[in-house]
Order: sequence, then C-alpha cells, then structure tokens
Amino acid sequence: MPEGVIAEAFFAGVWVEVSIEQALQFDPKPLLRCAECHGRVFAHKDYADGAAAAFAHKAAHSGCSTKSTFDGVQTRHPDAIG
Ligand SMILES: [Zn+2]
Repeated sequence: MPEGVIAEAFFAGVWVEVSIEQALQFDPKPLLRCAECHGRVFAHKDYADGAAAAFAHKAAHSGCSTKSTFDGVQTRHPDAIG
C-alpha cells in the first residue's frame, strides 16, 4: 500500500513539500521526511507489479495515518527529524 505521495525535502535549511514525482528526480537526493509524522522516508519508483511510486517510511511507525499499520492515534515518529 502506498504510504503517501507528498513528503518534505530539506533544501538550504528549510523543509519544502515535494511530490513523489519531484523526489524521484532529485540528484543528489535530499533528506526526506514524512509530512505528517516527520519520520524519515525514501522515494521508491513504480514496482514492476504495477504498484505506484510512493514514499515509504524507513522505520515503521503505527502513529502515522499514511500507513496501513496506523493504530488510530497520530503521534510524532520516535526518530523524527527536523
Ligand atoms: Zn509518517
């Protein structure tokens, strides 16, 4: 399940909202975080099986509503950045 198509990228000292399409084109890749829980995410391309490109959390976090494992209570990621 996609975990989101919007994240935040760190450019020149500020967090900027970026789409998955933008994030996949950055070179070098900036630091990316989830716009909701601020946990670190990475951008993955379309999968060969047809799953859409999306951001995925590096470390699982049940307090983020963008995840299929969301437990119903939004909390900041334990390894939040920025
Ligand atoms: Zn999150």
